[in-house]
Amino acid sequence: MPHKILLVEDSIALSMLLKQRLEAETGAEVIHCDTMKSATQLIGDHDFTLALTGLNLPDAPDGEILDLLSAGRIPTIVFTATFDEAARKRYTEKKIIDYIIKDGHRTVDAVIKTVDRIITNRLFSVLVVDDARSARSGLVEILQRQNFRVIEARSGTQALEILKQDETIELVITDYHMPDMDGYQLTRKVREYRSSEDLRIIGVSSSTDRLLSASFLKAGASDFIYRPFVLEELQCRIDNNIETLKQLKRLRHLAERDHLTNLPNRRSFFEKTKVMMTDLQKSKAKGALAILDIDHFKKINDTYGHDAGDRTLKNIAALIAGMCEKSKHLPARIGGEEFAIFLKDLDSGQARAFCEDLREAVEGSGVQLTGTEISVTISLGVVEIEKSEPFDNQLNAADQLLYMAKSNGRNRVFADLDILQGFTDLAKTH
Ligand code: GH3
Ligand code: MG
Ligand code: MG
Repeated sequence: MPHKILLVEDSIALSMLLKQRLEAETGAEVIHCDTMKSATQLIGDHDFTLALTGLNLPDAPDGEILDLLSAGRIPTIVFTATFDEAARKRYTEKKIIDYIIKDGHRTVDAVIKTVDRIITNRLFSVLVVDDARSARSGLVEILQRQNFRVIEARSGTQALEILKQDETIELVITDYHMPDMDGYQLTRKVREYRSSEDLRIIGVSSSTDRLLSASFLKAGASDFIYRPFVLEELQCRIDNNIETLKQLKRLRHLAERDHLTNLPNRRSFFEKTKVMMTDLQKSKAKGALAILDIDHFKKINDTYGHDAGDRTLKNIAALIAGMCEKSKHLPARIGGEEFAIFLKDLDSGQARAFCEDLREAVEGSGVQLTGTEISVTISLGVVEIEKSEPFDNQLNAADQLLYMAKSNGRNRVFADLDILQGFTDLAKTH
């Protein structure tokens, strides 16, 4: 379901521009009106995620629309040409999410950015840590109004417990003075296992000690804010921290993914399997490693062109990703037309069966090219992981088996099991 945004604005040019860009850039559905009367009607007919409004409407010249939106509990962003202390006080009373001062061509960009932020804030979980209930609930209310998912902790100890259980939390806002553990101690403890690359920590305090902020930052906090909050400052600092997280995520995604197939790339496969190997060595679980390569791929490129080759790679990657998703196997593109899969919790028999299913799925899929459908096959080598052996040796073993699959006719799976079976059969005949 797309988000619905109510746009109340009597300037036709601005409304059209906003509607068009908001729909294109945020995916939301924008419903526009230009009077208080029609806004009242629309609020009755729809469920709005958000309202965007000007203040001077033909039938409500003095910002009366804010009362209507506030009574309907619709999170509201105001854009206005005039701004002064009285206006600010009014916005605070009406608990609007944000205000944007009309500033020529930058206004539309600012509106889009704010709306996008409010919609995506929903994906972020924030933990508020404070022993004083009233201080905590004030902050919680502000954050909820900004559309964040908010969790509360009454003490540092409780905060640590919650963070251990809920790894989706990406922002912690913590008070300094707390009876069991102060804000620095909490920050230091959290930093032992969560870096600022995936968890931001903002310290807050009503103390007048100017050194507090420096100490918080030195303990590993990302930011610090003095109480009483200036709402705009609090909001900007939170937004900046969330924006940093988003940028880091984007960079990480770019660095870890193969751009053509969107599968993890070779480097991230080796980084991740290192961790998976260590986990495996500590547990009783089994695991396996498969390497697969497209058969006669060069011929596809030569016959149908490089784009057709790329399409084939994408199709096969999507098939692999689909089959790996449910069981949390880790697939990767490790070379031109070569893929690897770390198969979680599978022994050699199960891993062989998985590879056989994948081989069949690829054989049955076919690649749709303009006018024709071509059939593609893959060959696979698969070994159960020997926990005491270095990972490189297992890769070599899987690679050798892949080579055997190729030289024995392609479109087949060769597993360590098959080789063992071969030896047993040989022993029986002698
Ligand atoms: P075999 O069955 O023995 O694996 O034969 P093959 O033709 O699949 O293998 P070969 O290694 O001879 O050729 C692989 C080809 O894959 C050569 C290379 O140009 C092509 N290739 C590598 N990366 C890409 C890519 O990203 N896109 C496309 N279209 N082709 C690629
Ligand atoms: Mg090949
Ligand atoms: Mg190859």
